[in-house]
Amino acid sequence: MQTYDYIVVGAGSAGAAVANRLSTNPRNKVLLLEAGRASHPWSFIPIGMARLIANPAANWLYASEPEPNTNGRRIPVPRGKLLGGSSSINGMVFVRGQAQDFDTWAQMGNRGWSYAEVLPFFKRMESYAGGDDTFRGREGPLRVTNPEPRDPLFTTLMKAAAQVGIRHNPDYNGASQEGIAMSQATIAAGRRMSTARCYLDPIRKRRNLHIETEALTEALVLDGKRCTGVRYSIAGDVREAQATREVVVSAGTINSPQLLELSGIGQPERLQNLGIEVRHALPGVGENLRDHYVPRTRWLIGKKGITFNDRGRGLGLVHEAMRYVLLRQGMLAMTGAPIRAFVCSREGLEAPDLMLGWIPMLTEPSARGPRISRQSGVTLYAHPMRPESKGHVHITVADPRRPPAINFNFLSSPPDAELTVRAVRIARAIMTAPAMIPFQVSEVAPGADRATDDEILDWVKQAAETTYHPVGTCKMGSDPMAVVDAQLHVHGIAGLRVADASIMPTLTSGNTNAPSIMIGEKAADIVLNTAT
Ligand SMILES: Cc1cc2nc3c(=O)[nH]c(=O)nc-3n(C[C@H](O)[C@H](O)[C@H](O)COP(=O)(O)OP(=O)(O)OC[C@H]3O[C@@H](n4cnc5c(N)ncnc54)[C@H](O)[C@@H]3O)c2cc1C
Repeated sequence: MQTYDYIVVGAGSAGAAVANRLSTNPRNKVLLLEAGRASHPWSFIPIGMARLIANPAANWLYASEPEPNTNGRRIPVPRGKLLGGSSSINGMVFVRGQAQDFDTWAQMGNRGWSYAEVLPFFKRMESYAGGDDTFRGREGPLRVTNPEPRDPLFTTLMKAAAQVGIRHNPDYNGASQEGIAMSQATIAAGRRMSTARCYLDPIRKRRNLHIETEALTEALVLDGKRCTGVRYSIAGDVREAQATREVVVSAGTINSPQLLELSGIGQPERLQNLGIEVRHALPGVGENLRDHYVPRTRWLIGKKGITFNDRGRGLGLVHEAMRYVLLRQGMLAMTGAPIRAFVCSREGLEAPDLMLGWIPMLTEPSARGPRISRQSGVTLYAHPMRPESKGHVHITVADPRRPPAINFNFLSSPPDAELTVRAVRIARAIMTAPAMIPFQVSEVAPGADRATDDEILDWVKQAAETTYHPVGTCKMGSDPMAVVDAQLHVHGIAGLRVADASIMPTLTSGNTNAPSIMIGEKAADIVLNTAT
């Protein structure tokens, strides 16, 4: 059996950062286990996202259970399954969230997680040329860039937003989030900046870091109430590795609770019913699942040559391909939603509570998520940023290869429904503002005939999906449903921490890659500072 100081399970947004920082000291021997492959050809270029969203070679391809407020639909839950995890398949939009998000975590009793205390980790992780030095990092491993809004579609959308009172914000990751802006991107020189690329590629030569890919961790090895290692399999060959200091689980919001449950840590009755020996009762494992439930409003654009539907066909596509090859620019080098706005649902709010994101092409819903339409238009998603509805993720069999059951309980908290309708109304106001008239815009979905709140909500239940931001299933805190403490120790088990999006007690205001990487950075710092 191999012995390491630290074992990190999962090489995703958080896990890659943890492994990098723990192995900086050559005396720390680190094993990083990743269930997926080393890479996928489509994970290098931004447009490749479209080829990874439903690709079993790089994606766990989960789906939620049918529930009342999805009208019985299963919602696709893609998750990255390769080095870099979901940062290798995601939309590359870079949003930290609001200061209030982290201050809320601290107010819940999580010492060390206020905005002032996490800001140094946000700065340390990034290399970004814009913004203010107070807020932005210049020398971190993760390259973040700021595309120029030269495109006529983007400048017109900004004008339309201004006409309904949404001002331009030069840095929504700076002092204030409110306003509309081009999405900051984990893209540089036309390449995706995943954590595989930014945190792992530069340190491949470290002799004290051993990375195993296609290595599925099947269980944690426990000696009483101490975690001493992991059991994992590569191509059917089952192995064990020992951790003399700690195991850090960074398998993500779906797989981290799965691994705890498979190892006998969770709700006793649930585990017993599956024939799993209860090693430690922890009722919060798999609970507190939160995600953004997102209606995608869809708009036809009559003016030709404006949208990416038009420009992604025939000669337009040849032009875009040339632009990409020669300049590393254009539609092949963009984030999934290149413009976003953070807006307040009503006057008097201290900070925005809604996010809108424009996809510069018309998409259509399909069983595997949105796909590109043959017609020309734009897709505009609009949703509350801090939904209160909570669901859960639990295993249904004692088999690491079987997907857990995912129940979101979307819209179970009434304010979520009200805010979602409000977000759709703001989307409508922008798309019908005077600046849009020359584009000959017409509403496809929800459709102008859906006028009342109830009609809009009815459509949301039929059509909404997620923007792939599940968090919270190994919640940080000190209440009975918390799974980890503020030092990310699993309550009641020595030598075991969780560090990934699953520890977020609440959703951050925006996309979740940046905060997940910050969690990885901070986790490594905590581990190194408590090492004896
Ligand atoms: C399609 C998509 C689009 C998105 N778009 C954006 C966006 O534009 N901007 C943004 O900020 N966020 C976006 N997100 C969300 C963001 O990428 C995630 O919140 C973030 O990557 C989560 O990081 P994590 O470390 O918690 O998990 P992950 O990055 O998912 O990492 C978990 C890793 O653990 C591995 N693993 C799981 N189980 C095991 C096991 N048993 N053994 C070994 N390895 C295991 C997985 O294969 C994976 O590599 C998107 C996500 C998806 C899926």
